[in-house]
Amino acid sequence: MDFKMSPDVVELRDRVSRYMDDYIYPVEAEWIEGDVPRREEIYKDVQAKAKAQGLWAPHLPKEAGGMGIGFLKHAFINEILGRSLMAPRAMGAQAPDTGNSEILHQFGTEEQKKRWMVPLVNGDIRSCFSMTEPEVSGADPTSLQTRAVRDGDEWVINGHKWFTSGAIGAAFAIVMCNTDPDAEPHRRMSQIIVPIDTPGLDIVRPVPVMGDTEGDHCEIYYRDVRVPVTSVLGEVGDGFRIAQRRLGPGRIHHCMRWLGQAQRAFELMVDRALKREVFGGLLADKQTVQNWIADSAAEIQASRLLTMHAAHKIDQGDEARVEVSIIKFFGAKVLHDVIDRAIQVHGAMGVSGDTPLESMYRHARPARIYDGPDEVHRMVVARRVLRSFKNGAGWDFAA
Ligand SMILES: Cc1cc2nc3c(=O)[nH]c(=O)nc-3n(C[C@H](O)[C@H](O)[C@H](O)COP(=O)(O)OP(=O)(O)OC[C@H]3O[C@@H](n4cnc5c(N)ncnc54)[C@H](O)[C@@H]3O)c2cc1C
Repeated sequence: MDFKMSPDVVELRDRVSRYMDDYIYPVEAEWIEGDVPRREEIYKDVQAKAKAQGLWAPHLPKEAGGMGIGFLKHAFINEILGRSLMAPRAMGAQAPDTGNSEILHQFGTEEQKKRWMVPLVNGDIRSCFSMTEPEVSGADPTSLQTRAVRDGDEWVINGHKWFTSGAIGAAFAIVMCNTDPDAEPHRRMSQIIVPIDTPGLDIVRPVPVMGDTEGDHCEIYYRDVRVPVTSVLGEVGDGFRIAQRRLGPGRIHHCMRWLGQAQRAFELMVDRALKREVFGGLLADKQTVQNWIADSAAEIQASRLLTMHAAHKIDQGDEARVEVSIIKFFGAKVLHDVIDRAIQVHGAMGVSGDTPLESMYRHARPARIYDGPDEVHRMVVARRVLRSFKNGAGWDFAA
């Protein structure tokens, strides 16, 4: 076991750090304050710089237009770009486009790749993923109600979705539809590509969401939306299989970025503790604050190692279901707790807009819900552990 970073990873991290120092941090405050048109201008500028430096689409293999660095190296640089909420899109690595480009690359036909994946990876268009519905549980998506019925050469889609992130301004949605209610639960769903301007696709509203800076988690009605049968991604009935391939890596992408957020909050906390005097001494000299620093250091490093381990296993071709679920619920809690402590150390300043902490805190809370709530990930881990014990295999962490 070697925890040392290879020279090419060190070099890559240096390049990403320089890019962040030179182009992201200087415009970050303006981006947070800016309206949508101003933000788009800022993105255009920083995206062009990322492309010019070969720092584009780190999540994708070269043949799909990405950097081709694999999962583990991606994790190492994502913890740097995750420090700023605007950086992922600046480097062409913004959810849900990341997941959508990955599944288009893995399951798309040549035609689908040409029409949707190539411009998506290039940053010329954006996309969204439309699965969750208000009427039924998103944590248990076997009960999703949106139906796609075949009519000649077309699918006709009817349903009601919400929390479709990024729908406003997207060129297309990948919609999770029930194509066969009589099939066994995990073969009922298919993923269908729907151009956002298709008649019958009605974006009702962006649902107001805490931490949301772009107002884009949308409620959508699909009413007799017609698309060609060739719009199915993969095979009919493959919806869950593809979702699993999308969500596993997607969750890790989040965890990698959370490391950057937690690290940045940690640095702000320590810096403040070393400067602020209370009751005749520095905050850094108070044991409570020292406990927060020590706990945060331990939790961030535990989170890092769990994330790197899961990324390493994915690079070896493993789905890493248990590892991904562990880091999803553990990482979300660490993210929240570290930012919370950093805010507390800053006092009133911590809840003001004068540091990035309050925006980071609002973003951290939904992390315990999206891409599967904490409880579902704990359930996945516990079930597998219990099954293994029942089979007499126990659970060997070293293995
Ligand atoms: C910011 C944000 C962005 C999102 N973006 C998208 C998107 O782009 N596309 C999309 O399709 N969806 C998106 N979602 C939706 C998200 O994936 C769902 O909210 C999530 O899957 C949970 O589904 P639900 O909200 O229906 O909660 P429910 O399924 O109703 O669950 C409610 C609560 O029940 C509890 N629970 C559930 N299962 C169990 C269990 N087995 N044991 C114990 N407790 C349990 C959990 O505490 C859970 O929070 C987004 C959500 C957020 C907050």
